[in-house]
Amino acid sequence: MSRETTLTLAKRECAKYGVEADFIMDTSLPSYEVRAMAGRLVIAAPNDVELLYGVYACAETYGGYTFFEPGRDIFAPERVMKELPKQNGVLLPARRPLLKIRGFIQEFPFGDDTAIIFDWMAKNALNYLLVWMKYYDHLSDEMKEYARIRGIEIESGHHNFNYWIPGSKYAAPHPDFFAMIDGKRISPSGNAELLLSEQLCTTNPELRAEIVRRMLEYGDEHPEIHTISLTPNDGFGWCECPECSKFYDRNCKGDLYSVSTHVYKADRIYHDLVRDIAARLHAARPSLKLTFTSYVNYCRPSKGMTLEPGMAVHMAPYWHCINHALDDADCPINSHYAADLLAWSGVKHGGEIYVYEYYMGVNFYLSLPMVHFHEMFREMRWYVAHGVDGVNTQFHVSHWTVYGMNYYLMARAARGADEESTITDMFVRLFGKDAEVARAFYRAVKKVVLSVGKCHIPYPRSLFSRTKLEDYKCLYTKAKDLLALQPSDALRKEIALWMEFMCMFKAFFDLNQQHKATESDAQTLLDWIHNHRDTRLFVHDRFDMYFDEVKTLLREGRPWIHFGIDWEDAIILREEKEYFGK
Ligand SMILES: [Zn+2]
Ligand SMILES: [Zn+2]
Repeated sequence: MSRETTLTLAKRECAKYGVEADFIMDTSLPSYEVRAMAGRLVIAAPNDVELLYGVYACAETYGGYTFFEPGRDIFAPERVMKELPKQNGVLLPARRPLLKIRGFIQEFPFGDDTAIIFDWMAKNALNYLLVWMKYYDHLSDEMKEYARIRGIEIESGHHNFNYWIPGSKYAAPHPDFFAMIDGKRISPSGNAELLLSEQLCTTNPELRAEIVRRMLEYGDEHPEIHTISLTPNDGFGWCECPECSKFYDRNCKGDLYSVSTHVYKADRIYHDLVRDIAARLHAARPSLKLTFTSYVNYCRPSKGMTLEPGMAVHMAPYWHCINHALDDADCPINSHYAADLLAWSGVKHGGEIYVYEYYMGVNFYLSLPMVHFHEMFREMRWYVAHGVDGVNTQFHVSHWTVYGMNYYLMARAARGADEESTITDMFVRLFGKDAEVARAFYRAVKKVVLSVGKCHIPYPRSLFSRTKLEDYKCLYTKAKDLLALQPSDALRKEIALWMEFMCMFKAFFDLNQQHKATESDAQTLLDWIHNHRDTRLFVHDRFDMYFDEVKTLLREGRPWIHFGIDWEDAIILREEKEYFGK
């Protein structure tokens, strides 16, 4: 068999999806364009990847297909266009993509779902995947090629101090590469991502030289990779040696909005490292892009920091409020993230800004509602107007029923699709004649979330402490009504199950508030969740992690605020006072 290319794939997909179209290359176009000529479809495109996107757009527009979920194409025969317009002309006009970079952030290893994820991304014109280096190590050459053919650039990066300088290799010969805490060098455990606090002695010149050497070596070994990153291990804990200590002020603490009031700001020490490493890397290999992260206690550009060519910042509005758009000046939380973003925009000097999104809520993937349809369109327009080059979001396939609509619409918003008609079209595609009933259900879900008060950060306590069980029972009834209109529909079945879960989760929360919840109640809920592994509602291992902690708290008689981490709990309680008006 001859080697597959993007072009041969585009042809194959035409046959698979019943798209009869001719292809034309036109490098003057900003994107694909679909035309009617002599009763046939013509896809004109500036390159093969756009051509492939054009094929999928035709399959959705004329072929009766909807590419809503990975691995599950929806085909509705009644949506197949019987006849093309007789007149020659443009059917789907070319349009410059709103954002250049549109993608996913994969926080899990590659596996059985990898092909369907890449496939879905191409079908929805997503072109970027940010993944941890340790996971990229296990991606087969075949799947790298599979992504490349589909126009997906993979960034091997994310939290990675411990990838560049693993403790197992460097701790013995170079203890001085590692952070000094309380006058002693830490002994890295090799388990930094769990301990959240193992950093490097980042001012050490030998360490810096070694990181650059490792990066260049990595670039040689992975010529297919064009973007790598330099991002601290998750968590805090910078080096406290005399030299490193000059780069931060212990008394200058982080901010409440960025969940870092318990630690000092580390922007100066981090950016000093990034700037130096980027300059040395680019002196040797200008084509290798280096990303870094704006996050927690290093959100804003420090004095003198600039985004030079070959550099990009992943700006993460980590703990943001989902009851306001990110650019809403009325939101006491998001307005800070917006200011951070503007600050990065102000220091762009040939480099780029990618927003690191959480269209699935924050950190635990607990399947709490986040209906963010119109907001994404608004936010992306604002991002582009303020110098943002890309938007990527965390995601999982196994909770697609809960957040898939965000992912589906995000892809379209990032291309610059029309807000209202795109959202309406999605409901028609997914719910047919019941589109309006379904949309009313999602409005009702949104209304409950908005009812909590001005702001809401999507962790369980923020939602459940300010809503009633009755709210979820009403939503569950609405979901069952939607299902009753078409009882065989798999998506509606799962939506009803999702609302049943919300009722159970809320009931468990209330029981805990009354000091009556037991470990066995937590286990019962967890078992119920695990009994639905055949759905796309839950990220099961995250529920295990979360509920293990909740069970421990119940067993030990400690309060369940969030995840049993003292500083985080303290921040959540402060947020209740300052943001939620409690
Ligand atoms: Zn140090
Ligand atoms: Zn808000």
